[in-house]
Amino acid sequence: MTPSSHSLKVISTTKAGQYDIPGHPEHPARVLRSLEHLKTLWPAETFAEPTAAPLEAIKAVHGEGLVHLVQEEGYFDPDTPGAPGIFPCSLLSAGSALQAAEESLKGTSVFSLMRPPGHHATPQQAMGFCYFNSMAVAIQDITRRGKAQRAAVLDLDCHHGNGTEDFCFGKENFLYVSLHQFPAYPGTGRQSKGNCVNYPLAPGTEEGDYFPALEGALKKIGEFKPDLIGVSMGFDTYEKDPLTQFGLAKKDYRKIGQWLKAVKVPMFSLLEGGYHDDLPFLIEEFLAGWTS
Ligand SMILES: [Zn+2]
Repeated sequence: MTPSSHSLKVISTTKAGQYDIPGHPEHPARVLRSLEHLKTLWPAETFAEPTAAPLEAIKAVHGEGLVHLVQEEGYFDPDTPGAPGIFPCSLLSAGSALQAAEESLKGTSVFSLMRPPGHHATPQQAMGFCYFNSMAVAIQDITRRGKAQRAAVLDLDCHHGNGTEDFCFGKENFLYVSLHQFPAYPGTGRQSKGNCVNYPLAPGTEEGDYFPALEGALKKIGEFKPDLIGVSMGFDTYEKDPLTQFGLAKKDYRKIGQWLKAVKVPMFSLLEGGYHDDLPFLIEEFLAGWTS
């Protein structure tokens, strides 16, 4: 298989529904309903179950204190309060990202449909619904094992991925590029610094301003000459998302997918945010554009 064959693999499991924080926007149905919907669209062989990330891979990114507190289901902040089942789910989510990275190097477009999300988790601090930074774990492990040399992260969640930026900053084999609403949570990402390139976009941003920024981001990534690209795919840029103020329409996710498909570098993507009930259909649009 070559990177241009664009066959699709989705890594997911109903075990992603094992933790539930009552009243929290990051709820089990985000993944469970999406998985159910995607299974009506693609054949069974498209889907694979994740395995938990080895603890060493987590500890290659995160400090002992953070890992221990997640393990104890401890409290970080009101957004990230810990819950029964959070530790195994976080290990599975990171393991799924790792598997996605590995599979993508064989030329498959791989989407990790898991929770919790990860891009706000810094090496030392879980926050913003995120416990372990699955993207950081994936690119760290894959490059440490020599499977890829230079990894670029494209973060398309509506929020700035402060955790992934913290992890990537100053590491010359990584590039972090983010398009996000500013001002918005967590308040970072106003400027670029070193190998972290930020595109802060105003509340109300629609496709007319979004796609030129995406074009710039993809150009930056091309100049870096990565041999692997990880896409932190958030769907909270959606016009109806309850947490943010962007104006992307459902059809725009197909276009994002098509633009990514045109990049001839092994690529995996993973679910970050996206809190509207239309999430299954937004993911469908993205995957259809990315792979068909
Ligand atoms: Zn988000």
